[in-house]
Amino acid sequence: MCGIVGIYSKNKNVSYLIYYALLTLQHRGQESCGIVTRTENGFKIYKGMGLVTSVFHKGILNSLDGYVGIGHTRYSTTGKSSIENSQPIMLNFSLGKLAIVHNGNIANAYLLRKELEEKGQVFLTTTDTEIIAHLIIKNYIEEKDIVEAIKRASNILIGSYSLIILTDEFLIGVRDPYGIRPLCLGMDNDTIILASENVVFDVLDKNFIRDIRPGEIFVIDKDGNYYSYYLNKKRNAFCAFEYIYFARADAMINGISVYKVREKLGEIMARKDTVIADFVSPVPDSAIPYAIGYSNYRGIPYRESLIRNRYVGRTFIMPKHSERKIAVRLKLNPIAHEIKDKRIILVDDSIVRGTTSRRIINMLKRAGAKEVHYRVCSPMIISPCLLGIDMPTKEELIASNKTVEEIRREINADSLMYLTVDELVEGIGLSKEELCLGCFTGKYPIDELESIIKLIPKDIFLYNK
Ligand code: SF4
Repeated sequence: MCGIVGIYSKNKNVSYLIYYALLTLQHRGQESCGIVTRTENGFKIYKGMGLVTSVFHKGILNSLDGYVGIGHTRYSTTGKSSIENSQPIMLNFSLGKLAIVHNGNIANAYLLRKELEEKGQVFLTTTDTEIIAHLIIKNYIEEKDIVEAIKRASNILIGSYSLIILTDEFLIGVRDPYGIRPLCLGMDNDTIILASENVVFDVLDKNFIRDIRPGEIFVIDKDGNYYSYYLNKKRNAFCAFEYIYFARADAMINGISVYKVREKLGEIMARKDTVIADFVSPVPDSAIPYAIGYSNYRGIPYRESLIRNRYVGRTFIMPKHSERKIAVRLKLNPIAHEIKDKRIILVDDSIVRGTTSRRIINMLKRAGAKEVHYRVCSPMIISPCLLGIDMPTKEELIASNKTVEEIRREINADSLMYLTVDELVEGIGLSKEELCLGCFTGKYPIDELESIIKLIPKDIFLYNK
């Protein structure tokens, strides 16, 4: 996870634009956020723990003047949740300054760090992003060419990375050669924007131009000229989970409407279902389009049975288990008089540990629901994500070692159905060869990934928050 943005403007202070962009990308990370801008007099940086609205205020944004800058909302995968690990990461070196924001996860980070430390490299953070920054800087000092430096660094990075880099000369967007995490391009006459999701362009009233292509290095110079360069080509492997849960429903990811995919997946679930119920209800808010698709296909009324407190963050991206538990109770409340004695088809986007599903089903049953039929519009998650999404270890994933019937019993549903991997692929509308489906199949698109994992001590790899 993580939301990233970079903005170049010919004549405007960009700090407010970056602030609004980060608010738009808040769903991608809620632990910390930060902005770096570049002025004629150097770089300015401000970072803090918490939501964008609590970290930034007018005085800070006014002080971050500059015609170009980058911003980040963080959700940690590698490196604990702390102010040192918040982004942008900014480093001084002999040729100037470099600030970087990153969405993704470098699987061989531990090994690269060990190697760099043995050569005397000092690290300020425990993130994989700082490793990327050091690799780029090292190659930049040797090559004196930032694009070559990025290419050389990319040759040894194994994992997923959408990056936005700010140097004394350039604003640069990079998407890894598999295109695992999203990054897109928007602009108008005097502004160029790189952002994780195109919704940023809607909010800032700019035109969505296109996705940054897998392996593309998109360079914007001080005069607003831009150029594309490419890393060595690999197969596309867009993250399927962006469509299921992470991206906003109003986003277009890789040219495909996330809302349409979710609606279609609800229809596909309805197509194979025969259960009898009084109404269809979503687990709010992320499952709403799925439930609408399901309801339309089967002609069963759509009703809400749970009301979400919108001022509480999404539980899945809260880092500590204890926080997630409280958040479920805080954020969902059943509408008892709507539920009493009713048979409900409850539609959800996914089940990770199963604890949230069990709590929700029990909540509905305590409120008087006669039956709760749980419909999960994604396949069973059997393997952790190694490419930038924080998921529990394999042992904690409920579907990694249980059958559908065992899961049904554990979450206390009256019936339970999932989609298959083929049905998910059909709903997204891309071929299997263009997607990463690793958490559903245990097979990841990057060949070296599994051999790398075996080399890393278990307590260090990925889950070291
Ligand atoms: S393993 Fe799953 S969550 Fe991770 S990148 Fe692949 S599809 Fe996305």
